[in-house]
Amino acid sequence: MKRIVILGATGSIGRQALEIVDAYPKEFTVVGLAAHRNAELLMRQATRWRPRCVAIVDDDAADNLATVLPAGIDLLRGAAGVAELAALPEADLVLNGIVGSAGLDSTLAALRAGKTLALANKESLVVGGKIVLEELEAGAGRLLPVDSEHSALFQCLMGEDSTAVRRLVLTGSGGPFRGRTPEQLGRVTVDEALAHPTWNMGPKITVDSATLMNKGLEVIEAHYLFGVDYERIDVMIHPQSIVHSLVEFVDGSVKAQLGLPDMRLPILLAMTYPARLATALPQLDLAQTGVLTFEAPDESAFPALRLAYEAGRRGKTYPAVLNAANEVAVASFLEGAIGFCAITDVIEETLGRHAAVEVTSVEALRDADTWARKHAGEAVRDRGRR
Ligand code: MG
Repeated sequence: MKRIVILGATGSIGRQALEIVDAYPKEFTVVGLAAHRNAELLMRQATRWRPRCVAIVDDDAADNLATVLPAGIDLLRGAAGVAELAALPEADLVLNGIVGSAGLDSTLAALRAGKTLALANKESLVVGGKIVLEELEAGAGRLLPVDSEHSALFQCLMGEDSTAVRRLVLTGSGGPFRGRTPEQLGRVTVDEALAHPTWNMGPKITVDSATLMNKGLEVIEAHYLFGVDYERIDVMIHPQSIVHSLVEFVDGSVKAQLGLPDMRLPILLAMTYPARLATALPQLDLAQTGVLTFEAPDESAFPALRLAYEAGRRGKTYPAVLNAANEVAVASFLEGAIGFCAITDVIEETLGRHAAVEVTSVEALRDADTWARKHAGEAVRDRGRR
């Protein structure tokens, strides 16, 4: 019986992980659940799964939760409470499904406590890749990818020598706006951006998929997870989302991992690794799927990919600024404050004004994050005034 802590329990990843727990009552028991501010759903989840401990970031939400939480369940508060839950002594596995750079502290806390960390929060590696790797090397913790592409690469690399790898190829569906011109992209709405053609995900990552920033963040994530240079990481658009990524080896052989686009598969593998559990999930039938197509990404219509590669290669605090500016720009787009194409404009402008420093501590990242949010916010307001 694996004892698990789920961070971001009320989000898309967290809810799907709890579905898995539900399907395998003999395999898993929930010992901790954390959420940002959805006290009502967290309360229902706590009542259903009876963890020893819950944590919630938002102060008002914590007050609400305190009055209704079933007896015998401890309540932790604030971001510090979530990080404390990430290091819960009785946990065997911590699933980090937090959205955004807010997930970094919990990633570090879990690794520092020697936990096996199933990482769905790609921003931990994008923003803090260097210190996350240092924490990983220093301690007994272990990192398992949950992101579908990285789970695919991880599976392709099982049993392979890292010196035999020539290239990693991340696939992406291309999002709902594949094939559109920059002019057409200028007119798209929030609802259109939230209608992903193949994957069912939370709003932030769905917008990131529409701009291709999600793929850009995943390139940086892959760089840190697998220790491969940016020159040897490529992106290919694959609209059917069946091939989740590929590894090319030095002899010219290519391995790919395939499956239906269902996040429960990579979540499940991270939860059961190194074992695989039999599931009743829908099965891939290639004869029914029919044609699988691949094409190069259109970098002129979707500049986010170029921005992410540049930030990744330049290193230092650039990826942290890329990520923070993106979080601000996406939130502003979802609020209707800026148009779709302005998302990448805001990020590019913020990166252009940044004086990067070496990442020697979490504080250096926090400072860069704060700086980027302030300047990205100004760039958003400038656009609102035009
Ligand atoms: Mg992904």
